[in-house]
Amino acid sequence: MSINKEKYLEIIQQLGDKATLVAVSKFKPIEDIRALYDLGQRDFGENFVQELAIKYEALPKDIRWHFIGHLQSNKVKYIAPFIHLIHGVDKEKLLLEINKQAIKNNRVIDCLLQVHIAEEETKFGFDSQEVQELAKRIFEPESINYTNVSIRGLMGMASFTEDREKIRNEFKNLNTLYSTLKLKRATLNVLSMGMSGDFSIALEEGSNMVRIGSLIFGGR
Ligand SMILES: *Cc1c(COP(=O)(O)O)cnc(C)c1O
Repeated sequence: MSINKEKYLEIIQQLGDKATLVAVSKFKPIEDIRALYDLGQRDFGENFVQELAIKYEALPKDIRWHFIGHLQSNKVKYIAPFIHLIHGVDKEKLLLEINKQAIKNNRVIDCLLQVHIAEEETKFGFDSQEVQELAKRIFEPESINYTNVSIRGLMGMASFTEDREKIRNEFKNLNTLYSTLKLKRATLNVLSMGMSGDFSIALEEGSNMVRIGSLIFGGR
């Protein structure tokens, strides 16, 4: 077994009731997830649909599975029956497909809009203006396209850099956008930001959901 139990307990302690821990188990074996589950962890995050589907089948059904990777529209159907929260909605087309699959499964699927907060070119997500425009359309009372998706908040990834102030500023910007949207829709309650390397900064900047993998499960 290769999970770091001490680190896990330390993180849980640090988060307290301020933030939910999503344990990111991508590429990690079922036994490691099971070991963390036995310590009481229930929220797990995965990046790949096929891997997630296999793990879902093999593990206890009270696990809340979070999809945190880049999701392709044609794969939504495989996770729609059971997914707890989709963090990485980065296109309106994807949201429409999630809605369609949610209807087929007779459920409402919770989603976060992914915001591009880092300067890097390669990260997926909307920019701040796009999010506001999309949110406006989704939140309209007469919006008929989004009957079975529920936007719970925002998700973002900071730049991969040693520059702590830069990371802090990116998180700050995301929190500002989150607060702006929350004024329009009070039911928003998730700000997903912070990973192994930067979650302490994210907490200071208002995160209430962190996605931590390597600190708990070891390197990938
Ligand atoms: C892999 C991943 C994480 C976890 O990364 P660590 O640095 O291992 O904590 C968090 N969020 C997303 C979107 C990821 O892809």
